[in-house]
Amino acid sequence: MVAEIIAVGTELLLGQTVDTNSAYLGKTLAALGIDLFRRATVGDNEARLVHAILEAADRADLILTSGGLGPTQDDLTKAAVARAFDEELVLDPAAVEHLRTFFERRGVPMPENNLRQAMVFRTGRSLPNPMGTAPGALLEKNGRLVICLPGPPRELIPMVDNTLVPLLIERLGGERQVLRSRVLRTIGIGESAMEERVQDLLASANPTIGTLAHLGESHLRLTAKAPTEAEALALIEPLEREIRTRLGAHVYGIDDTTLEQAVVELLRARGRTVAVAESCTGGLLGGRITNVAGSSDVFLGGVISYSNRAKEELLGVPGDLLARHGAVSAPVAEAMARGARERFHADLGVGITGVAGPGGGTPEKPVGRVHIGLATARGVESRQYDLPGTRADVRGRSVVLALDQIRRALLDA
Ligand code: ATP
Ligand code: MG
Repeated sequence: MVAEIIAVGTELLLGQTVDTNSAYLGKTLAALGIDLFRRATVGDNEARLVHAILEAADRADLILTSGGLGPTQDDLTKAAVARAFDEELVLDPAAVEHLRTFFERRGVPMPENNLRQAMVFRTGRSLPNPMGTAPGALLEKNGRLVICLPGPPRELIPMVDNTLVPLLIERLGGERQVLRSRVLRTIGIGESAMEERVQDLLASANPTIGTLAHLGESHLRLTAKAPTEAEALALIEPLEREIRTRLGAHVYGIDDTTLEQAVVELLRARGRTVAVAESCTGGLLGGRITNVAGSSDVFLGGVISYSNRAKEELLGVPGDLLARHGAVSAPVAEAMARGARERFHADLGVGITGVAGPGGGTPEKPVGRVHIGLATARGVESRQYDLPGTRADVRGRSVVLALDQIRRALLDA
């Protein structure tokens, strides 16, 4: 079965409302193994809506619309479907009854234009909407199944879960397939370099492989389709193993695992603790680590040593080191890391210092220059980076790189 989604509403085109309904419908269809190759968004305009419906009907067996079922003049969806399919709209007595009780319960008289909502396709039926006044509508014609859903998410979601999903499962019968995805999350390798390593596997049709870059990380998604979840996972497994071999330590986690979660888990597994000294990241690293529930087992604390004096007094960075090399330098990052490790009695200490920008850069120390030091029982080392982007990018990437430095030190230990 191939589906298309048409989201209706001028507010969606204007960017005033984010189209969360299509995302919800997309996830729902994927879970059922129904192919979705396109979605459209159309304003509240009947002619354009008819056109979009006809186009969708050319390609898909199942057309889902969201929005435009209400009582007002700009609610045109059912009228447009009726026109596209040469179908009549008639009043549904059960829907009229539902409307009258809905208004009676609220003790307000029902405006007459509300009857528009009670119209159904003559050869179709309406779908109950316990959360609102506008029922959904179903039409099956010319080998196409059209289902019109209400716009407000609090009405659409229960209608999808309680009515649409059971209906589609019944339709699919033996054809039912599940889609199962596995995301491999990598760090320290660019998206194209990652793709190069798995180039010959990309042609795989089941599972399919897709890559995406995400905030300094590269992700790889394997999606398998099979009659059951277990079979889909069995398709994913050998491919996942092969890819993991090729990408090695770049893979830090799967699915929804965040980098900080991976780091906290690794610290816990190795029985190690960490403390941080942050200059240009201003506490962002400590913030991200403490995002993880249970991080108190492994995170001892941090110092936001923005000024030189704080670096000296709170971390014991020698004044002459600061004078000789400047605050943004490898020796200072290393001294900060050592200071954090010693002051907090941690196994690992991290020190970050850099030029986040947009001002403050010099030819020797341009905007984006960052040094990240890491102190362990084996000694201290640091890395120098030149990071692109805005102030927020430089700070965000510094945090990601620091987390990865911790992770790799633990893997090597
Ligand atoms: P109503 O009876 O409330 O008029 P309706 O079915 O006619 O419902 P619309 O008028 O199209 O739906 O939209 C009502 C509200 O629902 C919008 O103002 C918006 O807040 C929300 N909405 C509509 N479409 C979407 C969508 N695709 N994603 C998220 N929210 C949406
Ligand atoms: Mg409306």
